[in-house]
Amino acid sequence: MYQKEQRILQKITSVFLLAVIILSTSSCTSIFDILKPSSEVQVGQDIEIEVIEEQEIQRENLKTDDQGEEEDIKQEDTQNLVPYSGPVQHIFFHPLIAYPKLTFDGDAQERGFNDYFVTIDEFKGVIQSLYEKDYILIDINMLIEEREEGDKKIIERSKLMLPEGKKPLIISIDDMNYYDYMRENGTIYKLVLDDEGKVATYSLTADGEELSYDNEIIPILDRFVEAHPDFSFNGAKGVIALTGYEGVLGYRTNDLDSPKYSKERESVLAVIKKLKEMGWTFASHGYGHRDAAKISLDKLIADTNKWRKEVGSLVGPTKVYIYPYGSRVLPDDPKFQALVDAGFNILCAVGSQAYEKMGPNALMQDRRHIDGIGLIQQRDRFLDLFDSYKLIDYDVRPKKYLQDIKG
Ligand SMILES: [Zn+2]
Repeated sequence: MYQKEQRILQKITSVFLLAVIILSTSSCTSIFDILKPSSEVQVGQDIEIEVIEEQEIQRENLKTDDQGEEEDIKQEDTQNLVPYSGPVQHIFFHPLIAYPKLTFDGDAQERGFNDYFVTIDEFKGVIQSLYEKDYILIDINMLIEEREEGDKKIIERSKLMLPEGKKPLIISIDDMNYYDYMRENGTIYKLVLDDEGKVATYSLTADGEELSYDNEIIPILDRFVEAHPDFSFNGAKGVIALTGYEGVLGYRTNDLDSPKYSKERESVLAVIKKLKEMGWTFASHGYGHRDAAKISLDKLIADTNKWRKEVGSLVGPTKVYIYPYGSRVLPDDPKFQALVDAGFNILCAVGSQAYEKMGPNALMQDRRHIDGIGLIQQRDRFLDLFDSYKLIDYDVRPKKYLQDIKG
């Protein structure tokens, strides 16, 4: 039985080796096409390049940044901390497939969701496996530290001190904006606070409205860490990477002239405050989900400014930039300096393994994609983290996408 499985695996591996080579050498745009804005956002035309008054941002931060005293989940780590110098794993997801009937309905977007998204149970399986392999969630901002040199500020890679026997793990979630096209295809609608002030999900289904704690990464991971506190270092959770062109976290804060704007803003600020208290941090994923490597320098600057104005004013300052489309720019490109000048000192791309390199005042890091392609086609590549064949939601994903596995 096992040998047969092995033979099948070898066959699959060789077939997919070619696909993997093609995928990894082709432009990332094609891989991540599903996440393009459905209507092209005209960044740069209607936006003046403007520098946000620091004071304005500071004022906004006061509203979202004051740490809640009532619930301090960051436990003092009295464990034995030891220096860690191995690789830092950074994996990422998109919002979960919460309503698979809407996802796998045979429409034009079905394959894209099969390829780039995971289901609730698949996410839970990944987390359980990582926990069993002694990974521990850390705050991505721990990776760098600032040093003064004369009147210059220098960003350096910090030395990690972690509980003995634990390996650092960063989780990020891209596009947690709940775009219309995602809602139509089975994600939740938005994050909300329940009557007790806890983060829940809100969805509108054929059966009506639904509140849940068990169909999206944030409440699931919050509960998992509650049950397994040693899965999180000092209460760290994950990085929420946001665009701005359809608002954030399911609130349409992009529509500045809408009569609903102030209500949307007020609601999302409360959710953001709670998420920060729970150990979540935020990253820019660009305003218009533009490919930093392809757009002009001016458009990248305009896009970044618009993000700071509309999204940064809600989530507060962040040093983390997560390139859309798994793209990247290198230190010799003026766009790299533009991102650093905009305050980003951790720049995250996508790669097949843990990778990081220090550039001028910015840490460049790769993230590994956890999605249908990874689980179904790249089992070997992820065996250090989990055995994807044991995690795939065979009952939920349509058989046509799983043929090669079942052989
Ligand atoms: Zn994206």
